[in-house]
Amino acid sequence: MGGSHIYDMIVVGGGPGGYTAALYAARAGLDTLVLEKLSAGGQMALTEAIENYPGFEDGIDGFTLAEKMQRQAERFGAGSEYAQVERMDLSASPKVLETSEGTFYARTVVLATGAGPRQLGLPGEAALTGRGVAYCAACDGMRYKDRTVVVVGGGNSAAADALLLSRIAGKVILVHRRDTLRATKVYHAPLMQAENLEFRWNSTVTELLHGDALTGVRLKDRNTGAETEVPCDGLFISIGRTPATEWAAGQLELDQNGYIRADETTKTSLPGVYAVGDVRTKPLRQVVTAVADGATAAHMAEEYLAEGV
Ligand code: NAP
Repeated sequence: MGGSHIYDMIVVGGGPGGYTAALYAARAGLDTLVLEKLSAGGQMALTEAIENYPGFEDGIDGFTLAEKMQRQAERFGAGSEYAQVERMDLSASPKVLETSEGTFYARTVVLATGAGPRQLGLPGEAALTGRGVAYCAACDGMRYKDRTVVVVGGGNSAAADALLLSRIAGKVILVHRRDTLRATKVYHAPLMQAENLEFRWNSTVTELLHGDALTGVRLKDRNTGAETEVPCDGLFISIGRTPATEWAAGQLELDQNGYIRADETTKTSLPGVYAVGDVRTKPLRQVVTAVADGATAAHMAEEYLAEGV
């Protein structure tokens, strides 16, 4: 619960970047609290298998890794509170965080709010979510056992989702607006080899066909303009992420896509405020780069507090 207590650091968001900042801050003796709205892990917790985080040679599921990170930070004294942040005043001294569980105060704030799935923006998309439209193959894939699904996108998420779904669904149709994937090479061969996977290149989804639930999609060939109806039971939209920074407008410098401007130091445009993980401007959004940010942010906050603010 909130109160008049002033923390040395409040971390907003309990993903890998957030809990690493808390771990390093707690170990440096800072009075640290993590505010998380649901459960630890952020987007990572929705990932079935993380194969590229060093130290887990057989891979690890994101939920388990998130719990481990939380427990590790808590072992050194970091606290966790399940609260939805509703408003922040990051210029105030101390900084003010109004949440569903009361108001919290801190000398430094680490923003680790991550990024959520981007939407296609088609009519009916929101209403059909959970009724055929999905954004997470690891979470919802099993619902489509032996059925037909369409995956949209050409990046690592779409490639990973299409591969995962090819092991569950009867048929997978990967729809991409270009003629090549931007996904890393490691995905290309297994995708080409999956016998139940079909590619629809240079195509976009222009309409969701449905009754109460999704029944298909209309595709448009970007070269010829030809439209086709593709019956399917599920549509997995894997077209990237948008940063969770609605609340930051007017307080912090953002880039044109809404990411918080911060360099390798994780310092934002406001003193004592740091941005880590997927929410900040950076070339590679991975668990390993998020945790690196977390460590850096704690170090920067420690220096800032030592200056006697
Ligand atoms: P991404 O790399 O930004 O790729 C998004 C894909 O969706 C692109 O192919 C893009 O097309 C397409 N797209 C975007 N908006 C679209 C729209 N409105 N309609 C149709 N297609 C659209 O996003 P991501 O694949 O979600 O990956 C996000 C980050 O997570 C990346 O840094 C990625 O490396 C990382 N990630 C890594 C792994 C892994 O390493 N195993 C797994 C998942 C995610 P264009 O190509 O035309 O731009």
